[in-house]
Amino acid sequence: PYDVLIVGGGPAGAAAGVYAARKGIRTGIAAERFGGQVNDTLGIENYISILETDGPKLAAALEAHARAYDVDIMNLQKAAQIIPAEQPGGLIQVKMDNGGTLQAKTVILSTGARWRNVNVPGEAEYKNKGVAYCPHCDGPLFKGKRTAVIGGGNSGVEAAIDLAGIVAHVTLIEFADTLKADAVLVNKLKSLPNVTIHTNAQTTEITGAEGKVNGLKYKDRATGEEHTVPLEGVFVQIGLVPNTEWLKGTVELSKFGEIIIDAKGHTNVPGVFAAGDCTTVPYKQIVIAAGAGATAALSAFDHLIRQG
Ligand code: FAD
Repeated sequence: PYDVLIVGGGPAGAAAGVYAARKGIRTGIAAERFGGQVNDTLGIENYISILETDGPKLAAALEAHARAYDVDIMNLQKAAQIIPAEQPGGLIQVKMDNGGTLQAKTVILSTGARWRNVNVPGEAEYKNKGVAYCPHCDGPLFKGKRTAVIGGGNSGVEAAIDLAGIVAHVTLIEFADTLKADAVLVNKLKSLPNVTIHTNAQTTEITGAEGKVNGLKYKDRATGEEHTVPLEGVFVQIGLVPNTEWLKGTVELSKFGEIIIDAKGHTNVPGVFAAGDCTTVPYKQIVIAAGAGATAALSAFDHLIRQG
């Protein structure tokens, strides 16, 4: 059995792997796709001390760092179920999709999250070519340009306020007839001179030419009329979904499906820790996930040295 089994190989899992292995304990990482969301990122300019890199490069560097230590990396392995230890200090089991079972004294869950797609024509085609999901990451790329935000909940309205300070103009598109964000955010948004809000508006297409976004089409749900907004960027803000469906009923989750952790990365299950985008950690970023992975690994080590 492993001393520490990490499920998920994004920045959180890779950092946890390095920190655990450096304690000289038996460490494994099982990941559906090593590198995680980082693989899908074009430019990364906010990982501190690295001025600029791209997703595939950072993903390869994460893997190389983990492989520099004695870590068992099991790539293309999806976990399907976790079974807590029967008694304190006992082994935790992780059942894999392929039928196998891994056993460990401690487990770190770092399965990340995925952005919900709007699923309209153009979204997939222009991903990273004008279609973006993370305003903290990609907002500065649209400096002085026109953008839209799809989604009028808290994250959409926060994104629109954030972008309005950087870009030339923001069009906010909300499907429902009112914005669902907190009133204080909505008031702030409405006070901004370079923001247009369309409610009751259904995005129907993201258009582009020469490999770049050039517009967004939406239907006014009251009149049925189609409109086109010329722009350079579209931020989709209709939810970040944690990859925690497989943990339901075993590990305590928030109403958003995030694994509930304390400041040290403990979950409600003894010996089970969690880190990164799959948890309640505020702000979902690479540097934050990596830090949380280190925290979880140190907590797992702390747990192990207290066992008989
Ligand atoms: P993830 O990176 O999501 O990794 C999760 C890991 O778990 C993967 O290995 C996955 O395959 C695995 N996994 C999932 N389910 C299972 C399972 N059941 N069994 C086994 N393995 C499983 N952040 C920044 O800081 N800067 C940026 O510029 C930036 N740009 C971004 C651009 C895009 C397009 C996207 C999508 C995100 C961006 N982010 C950026 C956010 C950043 O990528 C995430 O915050 C970060 O990757 C989270 O790390 P993580 O390790 O928690 O999860």
